[in-house]
Amino acid sequence: MIIELKPEASEADAKEILTQIESVKLKPLYMPGTERIVLGALGDEIVLHSLNITAHPMVENIKPILSTYKQVSREMQSHDTQVAFGQNTIGGGTFTVIAGPCAVENKEQMFESAKIIKKYGATGLRGGAFKPRTSPYSFQGLEEEGLKILQETAKEFNIPSVTEIVDANHVDMMEPYVDAFQIGARNMQNFKLLKAVGQTNKTTILKRGMSATIEEFLLAAEYIYNEGNKNIILCERGIRTYEKATRNTLDLNAVAYIKTKSHLPIIVDPSHGTGIRELVIPMSKAAIACGADGIIVEAHYNPQIALSDGQQSLDEAYFEKLMSELTPFIHASGKVLS
Ligand code: PEP
Ligand code: MN
Repeated sequence: MIIELKPEASEADAKEILTQIESVKLKPLYMPGTERIVLGALGDEIVLHSLNITAHPMVENIKPILSTYKQVSREMQSHDTQVAFGQNTIGGGTFTVIAGPCAVENKEQMFESAKIIKKYGATGLRGGAFKPRTSPYSFQGLEEEGLKILQETAKEFNIPSVTEIVDANHVDMMEPYVDAFQIGARNMQNFKLLKAVGQTNKTTILKRGMSATIEEFLLAAEYIYNEGNKNIILCERGIRTYEKATRNTLDLNAVAYIKTKSHLPIIVDPSHGTGIRELVIPMSKAAIACGADGIIVEAHYNPQIALSDGQQSLDEAYFEKLMSELTPFIHASGKVLS
């Protein structure tokens, strides 16, 4: 439930009501705004009715939150959330371009790739050290050694970094190495991992599961938010459909829809969304047009020798083309590269 207080209500009035909410084991939320204080009560609504909060002299109005996800919904917060990513900001009027190899392979590969993406204006560096591969025989990543290379590269090129976390027990070990965690499609409903990341303050890019509905996707984000971590960036990376011509079907409906339903920023991954290098630029433009707050793309200094996802990785010529062709789209959307 959302409880709107009267404009003249004080912080003390709010605290009194929050204590009542807490006393019946509901989750109290305090959301002071510029004009008035808004409170939230999460849990069994029948229990809330028993408190008869409507009768409180400082309560103006009580309304239910209709969506199943609560704290990440626009019903709870109408303005866009902005999330820090290193020195940059994602959401609320910025457009982010995160790029880099699928996997960290070695220092030379990371340095050469970072040099290219930085040269043309990327605002974030990606690289997987723990790779959840479909086949157990595929390259699984360099693990902690890969994190060290990623950290060294990000420092050298002064660019924020993101890498995938696959295990709740890795949180403490991984946190110092990167600016953001990524939770991959295959782990979107790994609730233990969602909760563990939720207990940190680390910026987290949550990718949509390949067969997850939008509601399931937002409920996964709610798991992280509910533990206290509000620094969440959603990522649409394509879903599995009957279509086999492309690796996945990039669901841009989801981006436009989520913008109306959630205050969290959302970026698009056209690399995994299509699986085809030639489609990355057009789908990046489409991502801007449908309201995305950024893109995350795979780029490699030499995709032919990439140990994973070379077929969808951009080389220098493609990355330069991406950035030059995206610039007018970013301007047209009224956003700034960040
Ligand atoms: C990745 O970003 O390298 C990755 C494995 O993505 P996804 O989880 O979307 O498949
Ligand atoms: Mn990949």
